[in-house]
Amino acid sequence: MSQHEFQTEVQQLLHLMIHSLYSEGEIFLRELISNASDACDKLRFESLTNTELLKGDEDLKVHVDFDADEHTVTISDNGIGLSLDEAKEHLGTIAKSGTKEFLGSVDAEQQSDLNSLIGQFGVGFYSSFIVAERVVVESRSVRLSSNEGVRWESNGDGSFELENIARPQRGTTITLYLRENAHEYAESFRLRSLIKKYSDYVTYPIFMLGTVSEEDQKEGKEAEYEQVNEGKALWTKSKSDISDEDYKNFYRTACKQWDEPASWIHFNVEGSLTFTGLLYIPGSKPMDMFNNNKSGLSLYVRSVFIMDDCEDLLPEYLRFVKGVVDSDDLPLNVSREILQQQSVVDKLRKQLVKRVLDHLAKLAKSKKDEDQKLFNSIEENFGSVLREGIVQDFENKEKLSGLARFQSSWSIEQEQAEDGTLKTSLDAYIERMGEDQEKIYVITAPNLAAAKGSPHLEGYLSKGYEVLYLTDPVDEWVAQHLNEYKEKSLVNINSGGDDLSDEDDKKALEELSESFKPFMDFANETLGEDIKEVRLSKRLTDSPCCIVNDAGGMTSQMEELLRRNGQALPPQQRILELNPDHELIQKLNDLHGDDSKAEVLDDYIQVLRDQALLADGSQIKDNVGFAKRIQKLMTSSF
Ligand code: ADP
Repeated sequence: MSQHEFQTEVQQLLHLMIHSLYSEGEIFLRELISNASDACDKLRFESLTNTELLKGDEDLKVHVDFDADEHTVTISDNGIGLSLDEAKEHLGTIAKSGTKEFLGSVDAEQQSDLNSLIGQFGVGFYSSFIVAERVVVESRSVRLSSNEGVRWESNGDGSFELENIARPQRGTTITLYLRENAHEYAESFRLRSLIKKYSDYVTYPIFMLGTVSEEDQKEGKEAEYEQVNEGKALWTKSKSDISDEDYKNFYRTACKQWDEPASWIHFNVEGSLTFTGLLYIPGSKPMDMFNNNKSGLSLYVRSVFIMDDCEDLLPEYLRFVKGVVDSDDLPLNVSREILQQQSVVDKLRKQLVKRVLDHLAKLAKSKKDEDQKLFNSIEENFGSVLREGIVQDFENKEKLSGLARFQSSWSIEQEQAEDGTLKTSLDAYIERMGEDQEKIYVITAPNLAAAKGSPHLEGYLSKGYEVLYLTDPVDEWVAQHLNEYKEKSLVNINSGGDDLSDEDDKKALEELSESFKPFMDFANETLGEDIKEVRLSKRLTDSPCCIVNDAGGMTSQMEELLRRNGQALPPQQRILELNPDHELIQKLNDLHGDDSKAEVLDDYIQVLRDQALLADGSQIKDNVGFAKRIQKLMTSSF
């Protein structure tokens, strides 16, 4: 026998669960049955290519037993089983990424935190310890011989014991020694109702011993096992026979989610392609959404489980969708590699994408308040992931753009009046466009404050144009790829933008440029190295200056994104625009020519450049120099 420590994360998790989740105790059964069913799925899948594996014990099934006197509940399956090494690894660690960070941030007092904890990491097996003070797992992998079984045992306090045992049958038996406050679970009616409630649709039969009347007992009759669950895959039933509760339970158990689903679609397609889909949009955002590109769909072929996380069925930007797809057209022995070569998969994928996007569009268009609310919450959670599709999925670009929602100069104004987070669609934006406005204006910025405070806005707002605020990292890509929507071109005012000046402005600028020329020459000369050009502009109203990119040039956010992705970029040179109507710029212009002020003017123009770069969200070259100049200017101002 050997003793092993649980991974620190498991210890933390166990501690949290045991102390805070006792009211959720009953979930242990559905979690363990779900694991047993997964183990049967895995074996059934392997047996498709190796029929030997099932020999002698063909019918995959689950048994639930109990002993009211000993206060035990036992869940057994004849699935794939575990080897000693697998038991050590799978029942001692949590493999999911981000667990550590998440556990550190969990507030044990907050039930919602704990719920999402279970949702994120599928604490599955470990939930046994909510009700059990000791858990014993005996198992044998289908690939090993009868003297290569394993016994795993723990009381959940930091370590577990492992030993090699003889076990004639393959599969796994898990025995829970119930805590005193959980003795209620070692009872037939309780267990049966829990199986009905949570595991009715599990496709393998779940057996429990029936009862025998006293009379029969006298006659020597023994109790027999009887099937407790219906055993029919939920998605194969007709929609009218499925309650909302059934759908939600399936989501939690089969999709291993903890939250409430926001919405689901269940459909049968028949024709050149025959398949059933049951797809869910989760009600909350998983914390590893951006690092985790795993798909949430499980693939079945004619109701036989083939694989989880089947990434070929949906594009990456729909990775938040969970559920199952059951195809009639694929071969049973399909593997991940073969899957990619199947043209059926492309067609399936197209259909699934269409279903999801149409469903979202329907919600978005609905006049019902509850649908609107639902759409908004889905958009809030997954909108930025969906927008990845505008970049990735040319075919559905228009549809996806139609689903995108942004805050804007308009929505912020409304919000101040109405309170709440209001966003707008591109369609609603177009409807509000005045007659003189031909284009859709957007600004990309690292956050809302930066967008709202950007000097670039001034000219557009003063003309009465609405500007959309694109503040998510993905929006930089969106702005680059979405050059047009419904025949209106889309302009990122952060990257060159439009020349908004009218004839009068142009004339005024021309006249001014004469009197500003020596000063502008000086500014260009002084900043020549890192600024492409200093020029006068009429785009500003309140600010003295701003940084602009060449038309179509790369914004500083995009530059930052690319650099973070490890791309080597030549230094980007930007343009510094000065507002000749601003008092500060006029004063600087006046100072120029006064030799005694030459040094100060040099400082001023450098500070002007640096603060314009900072306001733009760009890096400045010489932080210390910037600070020193500011200090110097402050000192001289007293
Ligand atoms: P999850 O099921 O979400 O992966 P669990 O903590 O419930 O997480 O289980 C961890 C792992 O232990 C499973 O992925 C599986 O490899 C293994 N396991 C659990 N129960 C069984 C079982 N009854 N038979 C075989 N393997 C199992």
